[in-house]
Amino acid sequence: MPALLTLLLRSIASLMVAVSMLTATYALPAADGIHKSAYVGNAKSHIFHEASCESSSKMKEAHKVTLETRDEAIELGYAPCGICKP
Ligand SMILES: [Zn+2]
Repeated sequence: MPALLTLLLRSIASLMVAVSMLTATYALPAADGIHKSAYVGNAKSHIFHEASCESSSKMKEAHKVTLETRDEAIELGYAPCGICKP
């Protein structure tokens, strides 16, 4: 029954494509989530940084505040860092 076998293989192939597409769809929001939290504020000094700024990586976890946008940071009274100039 080669015809049936071919059909079966095609089904498996299309299933794998569907799964990889699904995986890609789920992977994207996670990547977006990282980009959205582009700024890190320091709750103690009230200075905010680019997430990539080395000061934000040195910051104590307890003082870290995730800021979605620059406007949000300004509204919350955070001042931009002089090094990374967010
Ligand atoms: Zn900075």
